[in-house]
Amino acid sequence: MIYIRHWNWYLSDMAEKSARPMKYSLQHRYIATVLALALGAVLALGGVFFMTLRSATHSITHLSIDTIREVMLDQVRHRGAVMVRLLADNLAGPLSLADLEAVHHQGVSALEQKDVQYFHVFTPQGEILDDGRGTVPNPGKRLADPVSEQAVTANTLLVQIENEIMDVSMPIFANNIHLGGVRVGFSLKTVNREMEERISSFLDLGQKKRNEALTMLFFLSACFIAIGIIFAYFLAKNMRNPVLELAHYAQRIGQGDFGFRFSLKRRDELGLLSRTMNEMALQINEKNKALLEAHTLLEKRVKDRTRELLLAKDKAEAANRAKSNFLANMSHEVRTPMNGVIGMTQLALLASPPPEQREYLELIEKSSYRLLKVVNDILDFSKIEADKLELAMERFDLRDTIATTIREFSFKAREKGLALDWSVQDEIPDACMGDAGRLSQILINLIGNAIKFTQTGRISVRVEKEYGELDELIAHFSIIDTGIGISPQYQASIFEAFSQADESHSRPYEGTGLGLAICARLVALMHGRIWVESAEGRGSVFHFTALLKKTATEHPGLDEGGMHGLPAEIPQGQPGPQLRILLAEDNLVNQKVAEKMLERSGHRVTIAANGQEAVDAFTRQPFDLVLMDIQMPVMDGFEATQAIRDLEKAAGRHTPIIALTAHAISGYREKCLERGLDDYLSKPIKIADLNAKIAEHLPLRENPPAETA
Ligand code: ADP
Repeated sequence: MIYIRHWNWYLSDMAEKSARPMKYSLQHRYIATVLALALGAVLALGGVFFMTLRSATHSITHLSIDTIREVMLDQVRHRGAVMVRLLADNLAGPLSLADLEAVHHQGVSALEQKDVQYFHVFTPQGEILDDGRGTVPNPGKRLADPVSEQAVTANTLLVQIENEIMDVSMPIFANNIHLGGVRVGFSLKTVNREMEERISSFLDLGQKKRNEALTMLFFLSACFIAIGIIFAYFLAKNMRNPVLELAHYAQRIGQGDFGFRFSLKRRDELGLLSRTMNEMALQINEKNKALLEAHTLLEKRVKDRTRELLLAKDKAEAANRAKSNFLANMSHEVRTPMNGVIGMTQLALLASPPPEQREYLELIEKSSYRLLKVVNDILDFSKIEADKLELAMERFDLRDTIATTIREFSFKAREKGLALDWSVQDEIPDACMGDAGRLSQILINLIGNAIKFTQTGRISVRVEKEYGELDELIAHFSIIDTGIGISPQYQASIFEAFSQADESHSRPYEGTGLGLAICARLVALMHGRIWVESAEGRGSVFHFTALLKKTATEHPGLDEGGMHGLPAEIPQGQPGPQLRILLAEDNLVNQKVAEKMLERSGHRVTIAANGQEAVDAFTRQPFDLVLMDIQMPVMDGFEATQAIRDLEKAAGRHTPIIALTAHAISGYREKCLERGLDDYLSKPIKIADLNAKIAEHLPLRENPPAETA
């Protein structure tokens, strides 16, 4: 599904893009590219061609001009030489005959030539004899210039070109007699003009040819570019149209039209692309279908599962509610008869029975307490599992708590021949804040186990400070025994519920396997940790830490012995000051138990079978103390307490009311206090606990029995 969604997104994005006007289409790009290429090629070729042509014509022109100049000068030189030789030959005769007339005549005819500028005939001494013009001012004058000198002295033809004049001179000999020399100056103006004309017409021709070549070049370039554009146009068109068709096809796929087929009849990459796209559309279509089916199926399954889960959840919640109710009821229902059993046993034991019966009664009492412990453990564990267990925060004396717990075990230890000792480090304060009941529950479990699993040796309890700040401290408890020890593999799971090292049916030690699990959870609630060190056959050390708050007062109020604390210092059955006690209790056995216990302590008891009867009795006569069962027919303990408190308000009195209840749920004591009761005593009641509670509330008595009786 994700794949398809992604693909759809991609295609729709493409379609959107293709809908926009294309600024630089493929065709434009192609044309531009080919144009650029053609231009580049033409420019490069043209450049090379032009440069070559230019340098070639340049050198040819120069070569040609030089040659023309050379040829023409040669012609002039040759003509000059021929003419001067002829003149020298023609002058030899007249000079040898000293025929000056004939010499002059030669000069005149020489000067008749258009280009002859001057004519001089010299004597062998270098004096001008004639200049052909008859203007020799001073015949016999020597020529001053060295050229003329040379002309006479040299014995060959001399040609010198200077500016626009060609000077040709030659000596004249006749029969090896030096007769003088002749010198003729030819004007080169005409020749030069002619030469210029020829060169310029030659250059004109070169320019013409160059222009022709350039025109040709431009024409060729234009042809190249035009062909390039046409070629690019068709090439781009050939590419662009199928690409547009492909884009359109992709757009349709993007819109989910997988049934549409499209194929380009081409043998190039575009044809391959179109075939691949076809294949892809086909596959997507199939996958889409499969996914849709899977999705529908999955949705249906999820719905079914959700429905089932909701049902299961409802069931589980209902079961949980039923479990909680069951636990509360079970606790109540088990404790009520247990109260009868234990109470009656205690009473029977106090009636000094014969030894055999005493033994039976003691066994009944012991079994009852064990049964009670099992019930309590199961209840505790369930409460902890349901997160319903909360720790109390009350002031207590740590040393007292430990001493009381140890005292409970001293008899058992002595019986087994085990030494039992304890020590608390000096740094641990006496007065602490915390849940003393739960702390001693942990100690009872661990010391109980230590005694249970040790045959010889000793059990020691140590308390040390692990870490302490101003108002808080972490106490480290160690319970050390020299018992059977625990195997390493079992140590790992020892704190799990219902786990026991010996799981055989023939195990010699009784127990539920819940004790350590409860300890671990209680320790966690006390922000501590629990662990064990043990060696098989040598003994074990159970460690745990607990966070305790320090308190300044060193007089702890051991206000509740609870189920675990035993205020053993109050002697059982010891007659106290006689009190008028109202006992509200609906259960006949429990009525009997409490009545007998109270009477043994010398109190006067009035019994009420429900709350209403209690209120009535209270209206009739005053009482020093009320023991109030909570769960009663007609009117429950809370309502009855409220009614009594209302009655008292008018009289300005306060009678201690102690709840007697088989509910052992945490927070129940607080609930009792909230509802106007003064204290709480959990069933089954022990005589000692009952006496201790009454003694505790005696000072509260406003009217001593002596005054009111
Ligand atoms: P139980 O009620 O069975 O004693 P616990 O959770 O208290 O339950 O103990 C679980 C198991 O741990 C015991 O059955 C025993 O095998 C082992 N165990 C506990 N404490 C000791 C000890 N001090 N020495 C040897 N084994 C012990």
